[in-house]
Amino acid sequence: MEKRKLFGGGEFLITEVAPEHIFVPEEMTQEHQMIYDAAMDFVKKEIQPNLDRIEEKDEAYARSLFRTAGELGLNGTDVPEAYGGEGMDKISTCLVTEAVATAAGASFAVAHGAHTGIGTLPIVYFGNEDQKKRYLSKLAAGEWIAAYCLTEPNAGSDALNAQTTAVLSEDGTHYLLNGEKIYITNGAWADLFIVYAKVDGEKFTGFIVERTFPGVSHGPEEKKMGIKGSSTTPIIFKDCQVPVENVLFEVGQGHKIAFNVLNIGRYKLGASVVGGCKLAVTEAAKYATLREQFGKKICSFGMIKNKLADMSIKTYIAESMVYRMAAALDDILSARTEEEVQDPAANARTIEEYAVECSIAKIFGSETLDFCADELVQIYGGNGYTAEYPVERMYRDARINRIFEGTNEINRLLIAATLFRRAMKGRLALLEAVEQVQEMLNRGAPEPQKTPDSGPLALQDHYLKAGKKIFLLAAGIAANQLMMALEQEQEVVALLADMVMEIYAMESGLLRAQKVLKKKDGTTADYHAAAVKVYINDTLPGILNRAKQVVAFVEKKDQLPRLYGAIDTLAGYQPMDTIPLRRFIADKVIKGKKYPF
Ligand SMILES: Cc1cc2nc3c(=O)[nH]c(=O)nc-3n(C[C@H](O)[C@H](O)[C@H](O)COP(=O)(O)OP(=O)(O)OC[C@H]3O[C@@H](n4cnc5c(N)ncnc54)[C@H](O)[C@@H]3O)c2cc1C
Repeated sequence: MEKRKLFGGGEFLITEVAPEHIFVPEEMTQEHQMIYDAAMDFVKKEIQPNLDRIEEKDEAYARSLFRTAGELGLNGTDVPEAYGGEGMDKISTCLVTEAVATAAGASFAVAHGAHTGIGTLPIVYFGNEDQKKRYLSKLAAGEWIAAYCLTEPNAGSDALNAQTTAVLSEDGTHYLLNGEKIYITNGAWADLFIVYAKVDGEKFTGFIVERTFPGVSHGPEEKKMGIKGSSTTPIIFKDCQVPVENVLFEVGQGHKIAFNVLNIGRYKLGASVVGGCKLAVTEAAKYATLREQFGKKICSFGMIKNKLADMSIKTYIAESMVYRMAAALDDILSARTEEEVQDPAANARTIEEYAVECSIAKIFGSETLDFCADELVQIYGGNGYTAEYPVERMYRDARINRIFEGTNEINRLLIAATLFRRAMKGRLALLEAVEQVQEMLNRGAPEPQKTPDSGPLALQDHYLKAGKKIFLLAAGIAANQLMMALEQEQEVVALLADMVMEIYAMESGLLRAQKVLKKKDGTTADYHAAAVKVYINDTLPGILNRAKQVVAFVEKKDQLPRLYGAIDTLAGYQPMDTIPLRRFIADKVIKGKKYPF
């Protein structure tokens, strides 16, 4: 039996990870399949036939959906059985999240995601026994709907700038909350709010606020571009009385709850967008095999095939990284002792470990969904631009994912800042790895790397290793030259963050394909190999280019030819002919009229 290996967050940049060390979607158990099927059944019966009703923001219907989801065990995958949930692994959570998002209208997916994720998880990980007992079973059953109130008019990306205050009453029995939160998902429907406020205007603190507490109200619904069937309102607290028993974790520890719950929210968002991407591929394939122009089905045109292939390949990579990430989170959470499970501080440390990977899943997933939704509209032509067809809604619905759960800009900053902070603290041996690459450079121009020509994915394996060295080279030079000023040069930070993301993406796809190939699964394996060959062929030049942009900004001009030469030599990149590989994948999409993996 192969054993997965527990890596530290960000360690993939400096370590060789083997296929047996990670989980791949092909390893789903029967139980996983059953939970996915139950969720898909729910989507097909309850959501897909009622999309228009959902889009009208029919609260009674939304509530009935939450209750049905509760009866089916789809709200409580993350809630321990002792508190009325299913207590399942994160892979199951991802499967439910992914399935709910394959409904052609993301409104309920967003409402459900906010309820089961950022609304419920603060209590799972940071609530005390009494709070868990009082609230979790109602949330898992879908009797109550939850919301998460962090954003304020002057505290969006800068969440700690919150101005909502909490003042302890004279008799010490409750806090009085005053302030306004905005853009709150499930705002008009929620029975329970996780609210962040500053005690005495200073100590950022999480509170569990029930809708019926005196002084809570919601403002009007936002008129949104997409996800119109989800409720998004301001929530107003006017001398709102919250019992002291409803402080989450401890006064002054709200940032640990808010940011760690967002970490989990981010990888879950990754799973949700994978569902949307798969649906986009399926809808594109169905339409392209029906629509005829110039006397032929449009799916026979090379440029349409190219789109179907690219949508599938990027989705494959997003899926690979999300389920790799979910299993890693499962492994690290299962390694907690019983004491740690009950200890909010230990939970915060554990969840924080994969902050970088969670941000990657969020950025990569949301940008892949936008790409897929855009290509879907294009394949539909004029029909894609009219509200007659579902793809226009999918296009609008997709856009929010780059904005909430931390904008993609903020997540890029987080990736780089987290890695550098860990390196400085000695938690991640990044500096040592950078030094090794620099020593190699100091010895003179790197030897041309032997690019292997044997083994099905040996060349891609070589490119991945080269990508890691090139990142270390660029990051090392940037850190040396800019030192503390690096943080201020956001364009450089973003280039480095994108390199980190692309390395994780290439590696997740490559390890998955290698694992499938090891099982010698005939032509299925060939599709995996083809996807990874195309993806890495197209991605490595971007890594080289970003590394060169970083050194061009920070290094003296006379050093550039040497450094550019070193980057090119390390990579030894030769473009390959990917057209047959793309056609190979596209033909499978067309034949099956669905996502091919
Ligand atoms: C439909 C919807 C649902 C939402 N649901 C919830 C919810 O349930 N709960 C909740 O608390 N919030 C929710 N939000 C709020 C959402 O999380 C915020 O909109 C988001 O965090 C961005 O904040 P902002 O809108 O104030 O944008 P701003 O912070 O003003 O950002 C504007 C732009 O500037 C960029 N920017 C900001 N700071 C920096 C920086 N330091 N460096 C570089 N670029 C920067 C941003 O990336 C963005 O592109 C929701 C929003 C929407 C639209």
